[in-house]
Amino acid sequence: MVKYVGTPASGGLTVAKIKIVNRRIAGFKRVVLAPHREKALLNAAVILAKDEIKTLMEHSSKEHHDILNFQVVMLDDEGLRTLINSQIEEQVGAARAVELAMEEYCDRMKNIGNEYLAQRSSDIRDALTRVIDILDGRNRERFVLTEPCIVVADEILPSDLAAIDRKFAKGFITEGGSYHNHANIIARTMGIPSVCGVDSEILNPLNDGKTVALDGYTGEVFISPADDVSAVFSRRMSLEQSDSEKYQQLREASVHTPDGEEVAIYANCNDPKDIALAINNGAQGIGLVRSEILFMSTTYDLSLASQIRFYTECIRAAKGHEITIRTFDIGADKPLENLQLEKEPNPALGMRGVRLMYTQQQIFETQIEALLVSADRCGRINVMIPMVAVESDITDYFTMVEKVKERLLGDGTITRDNICWGIMIETPSAALISEDLAKYVNFFSIGTNDLTQYVLAADRINTNAARYYNPVHPAVVKLVEMTVKNAVRYGIKVSVCGESAADFESAKIYIDKGVRCLSMAQNAMLPIKERLIDEFSKH
Ligand code: PEP
Ligand code: MG
Repeated sequence: MVKYVGTPASGGLTVAKIKIVNRRIAGFKRVVLAPHREKALLNAAVILAKDEIKTLMEHSSKEHHDILNFQVVMLDDEGLRTLINSQIEEQVGAARAVELAMEEYCDRMKNIGNEYLAQRSSDIRDALTRVIDILDGRNRERFVLTEPCIVVADEILPSDLAAIDRKFAKGFITEGGSYHNHANIIARTMGIPSVCGVDSEILNPLNDGKTVALDGYTGEVFISPADDVSAVFSRRMSLEQSDSEKYQQLREASVHTPDGEEVAIYANCNDPKDIALAINNGAQGIGLVRSEILFMSTTYDLSLASQIRFYTECIRAAKGHEITIRTFDIGADKPLENLQLEKEPNPALGMRGVRLMYTQQQIFETQIEALLVSADRCGRINVMIPMVAVESDITDYFTMVEKVKERLLGDGTITRDNICWGIMIETPSAALISEDLAKYVNFFSIGTNDLTQYVLAADRINTNAARYYNPVHPAVVKLVEMTVKNAVRYGIKVSVCGESAADFESAKIYIDKGVRCLSMAQNAMLPIKERLIDEFSKH
């Protein structure tokens, strides 16, 4: 038996076989061969890239299938190949030649002034990046799970989680990552135990197929567990099972402060399946749907029709409960494979969240259209804007909403605006001017994950800065309190949807400061309900 201890990232106990997925970029140096050899390498890489894309097509939705098909066709495009080959003739090597041709070709498409072609340039980029990765020897293995297993990986990306078959993913162990990165947030909403920050030794290929016992509460990982450890795990797992039966009785229960005020427990979700599970587990509403999951999904894509399907399915899965969809929150620690954002020296302080409306206008307008149409067809929804820092973030966004709305009302696509608008309070500035922001919206949702990061200047995904990252530091709590007071003063709703809402001690502090709605990963709802009910019954 070998024991490792990492950082607990998603609670739960599990025992299963290991599947190793190590995609660390091979330490390579590009060596440039004679042009005819580089061309031969290029041809082989293109064939392999097309094969990979065709395999992806077998499991993709109609819209995604069309995009992939376009990528296959583009890889054989004569103009593009001529451009690459002429670079190779200049002795730059195949990988660099593809990079240069990609920039030139995509720039040309963008500059034609045709929105459709400009959008397609990101598909071409995606296909060509695959060719470059093949030429550079990067590992592109995907999480294709065909049997129950615990994935042991260098790192898990949100897009991996969106693509996996949940019934086979019994747990995650990663060398990299942190409690607050998005893959672990998603693992928690999916209820999959996870441990991160484990010694890289665990990636040894010899571990593949061995049995591992994973404790997502303590961060302990046992490879080939000894009999006594296995016995403890099976006892604790059956206790967990009976706990979950006990928790089921709490589904309908509600939390009240000693003064009799109700504290609603909502769920954070990623897709209609999560929402259905959360409602089944007694969620009183859905406080956050992270719509950026659409960039990573294999079931949905960014086209208008697919987005309408996604939002409609989300609304229906909420079965009449309040549901809050967040507009795309991309950038910073949510990198996306299929949207090439400009590289920035400080991404967390750069173009992320609502700020991208200035550079990705078409994507934002399509989302607004899909949300307006879905709300018109299926019933009232809340929509909130992330990363608001200044008033113009809201006013400029609403100008875009008005433009889209006017068109849809004008041509009869919608008959009403059925959206209730809100914003996330997750920058210190938004909290400090919450009094001024309240007049624009119907609700605030406090994102303590980012608020903590920005208030304490502590990167949420940097484990070295973890000692500074405290969502109940007095500085953060003061801003939470200020936001709640301003929301109450202006008669708008306020909730907390950061991860700390699921932490009992933090939740108590927020409730003490006036928060009456907590939104969290669905598997945290019933345990926290139990503890809060117990705590408040003592008074
Ligand atoms: C937050 O910042 O608290 C939040 C809920 O948003 P995300 O974690 O998706 O950035
Ligand atoms: Mg956030």
